[in-house]
Amino acid sequence: MASCDTNTCQSVGSSQPSTVKRKSNDIGWEYGVIHDPNKSMDKVRCLLCKKVMSGGVYRIKEHIAGILGNVSKCPTASKEDQLKCRGVLMMAKNKKKNKRAEDVNLRAEVKIDVHESTSNTNSIDVDELQQFGLVKPPHQIGPMDKFANQINHECSSSSGKGKAQQRIIEAFDKERGNRVKEYICRWAYEAAIPFHAFERDSFKLLLEAIGQYGPGAQGPNRYEMSETYLKKEVDRVREALKVHEAEWKLNGCSIMIDAWTDRNRRSIMNLCVNSRLGTIFLSSKECSIEAHTNQFIFEYVEHGIQQVGEDNVVKLS
Ligand SMILES: [Zn+2]
Repeated sequence: MASCDTNTCQSVGSSQPSTVKRKSNDIGWEYGVIHDPNKSMDKVRCLLCKKVMSGGVYRIKEHIAGILGNVSKCPTASKEDQLKCRGVLMMAKNKKKNKRAEDVNLRAEVKIDVHESTSNTNSIDVDELQQFGLVKPPHQIGPMDKFANQINHECSSSSGKGKAQQRIIEAFDKERGNRVKEYICRWAYEAAIPFHAFERDSFKLLLEAIGQYGPGAQGPNRYEMSETYLKKEVDRVREALKVHEAEWKLNGCSIMIDAWTDRNRRSIMNLCVNSRLGTIFLSSKECSIEAHTNQFIFEYVEHGIQQVGEDNVVKLS
């Protein structure tokens, strides 16, 4: 029997181990199957002409539809099959195009500049801003404007007019900052992001990175979040851990354990490693069913010691 993960289903037994297809309503699976799920989920085989190709179900549809460029045309597909797949591909393409247009329109709604907004501008006199040439033509503020403002601050602070200008610029900056905070809060309330998440240094770095990029910054898609960037982050954390591991070896470390109950009343135990460089989370375990006996705790701590390396843990006499 071929292996079967959560995303696949098996349609036949051991005599034909390769006829596995994704659990999906995609029309492409009417014409193809994953060639060998034990090797790659990306390689697919045409059920009509038996051709094997890379590129998943999308490629199967191109093959059947006879859309050239990435794959050859299926010699066996009927006109009806061709039209069916071509229609689905066109629909997907249009959907993507519409989504892109929607995104562009959505982003165009963002107005953080005082003169471009109709909402609360009480704290700033727009006429005054115009007098100082700060809001002359409505234009998109780019990353360089920040530096331009800084130059104004410096060269204008000596004269009376300069001080007034500086006051206006500061008010202008503050108002723009408030608009950014409104967008952050709206997203946090909608997505139920815990408020303490915004106190993290990583959030401050995120704000700075987006600011430095300027307009049009893109977030990662779901695939990138769960694959590409997750792998990168795991590598980064592993690399950062090496310094701690070296310290554990050099001066020893202690294994710490604590237990707590989460909002769903699940009992969780955490294992951490403490050394002179600080405390590092090692693992956690749900133990709602188990009794927290000495033996149970001993075994969990022992497991942590094995993970860290027995020789590195400081033994108390
Ligand atoms: Zn074919």
